[in-house]
Amino acid sequence: MKLAEYRQKRDQARTPEPFSEEPPASLGPTREGAFVIHLHAASRRHYDLRLEVAGVLASFAVPRGPSFDPTERRLAVRTEDHPLEYLDFEAVIPQAEYGGGPMILWDRGRARFLEVTAEEGLARGKVDLELEGLKVRGRFSLVKIKGEDKEWLLLKRTDAFAGKDRDPVRDAPR
Ligand code: MN
Repeated sequence: MKLAEYRQKRDQARTPEPFSEEPPASLGPTREGAFVIHLHAASRRHYDLRLEVAGVLASFAVPRGPSFDPTERRLAVRTEDHPLEYLDFEAVIPQAEYGGGPMILWDRGRARFLEVTAEEGLARGKVDLELEGLKVRGRFSLVKIKGEDKEWLLLKRTDAFAGKDRDPVRDAPR
């Protein structure tokens, strides 16, 4: 039950969020898929990076959002897998509910997983990927912090898209 934690945290009668069927267990391994980044103005504003992996969206809450500067290390907290319907989801979640607050689609596109499959990368604590979004592009890595349960770092890898001047979090907020 990949979405068990997702369902457990939400009351279907009280949130506009999708409650979809479980994906078939046979999906995967994943070498590429869709991705979205939500800007989520919850009690603490953050960006939710969601990667399509085997029929669900593996999700990370990134408080400061992605950076194009390879020397920056952005905290990315792994959160529960979300249903694929979240690829199109925008809403105001009621304040009293889990994750309450407005959530917009801030970026979307395709993710290609490098070196190993997404499943292997998530299991070993290092996901190398190439993002082709409208705002966020190029090679990134998600690296799990040693000894932590859910804390990872989102890093920009050096490539043609990298640069200290490029900052869609600052320049493209909508
Ligand atoms: Mn969120």
